[in-house]
Amino acid sequence: MHLNPYGEYAVLLAASLANDWPATREQLVARTREHGMTMPFPSAPGDLEQTRAVLDSWLTVVDADDDDERARLLNAQMAAVAAYPRLTDHDREGWHLHYRDPGQSLPAVLAAVISVGTALHLTTRGMHRLRRCAAGPEVGDACVNVVVDVTRNGRQRYCSVRCANRAAVRRHRARVPRP
Ligand SMILES: [Zn+2]
Ligand SMILES: [Zn+2]
Repeated sequence: MHLNPYGEYAVLLAASLANDWPATREQLVARTREHGMTMPFPSAPGDLEQTRAVLDSWLTVVDADDDDERARLLNAQMAAVAAYPRLTDHDREGWHLHYRDPGQSLPAVLAAVISVGTALHLTTRGMHRLRRCAAGPEVGDACVNVVVDVTRNGRQRYCSVRCANRAAVRRHRARVPRP
């Protein structure tokens, strides 16, 4: 997989998995393909459960209280997958960098790709560009989706147009005096 300079595909893959968890290993692999990963993964019985654990760790980065905490958690996750970067041309993708050892399991590959991709995203786009949907904390709303902000102005607060609209309706209702 190409981790572009912004780590965009990897961090968007993580959010996609967090927001819409796949029911099977096949669906998990399909999701990695949708986000541009081309390599075949050796299949192991615990792949789905172990990937869930990778995602749960990643969500602690999303929910970190401040930038220092976010960096500390992410550094620990990158240390756990530590491998030196290396050039590779697998599946004729063209030469690119991998931040992990070859021949690893699906959860191990995702742990490496997601942690490094998230670090690239945060350091190049901004440490604040990863959050939960702003609709969630409002009264009567249950959205817990993750928002990866890759917009130009860096002010995305909602996971979807639907959530943004719902919040706008609530703000409007709060302003309009009731008879
Ligand atoms: Zn690759
Ligand atoms: Zn939302």
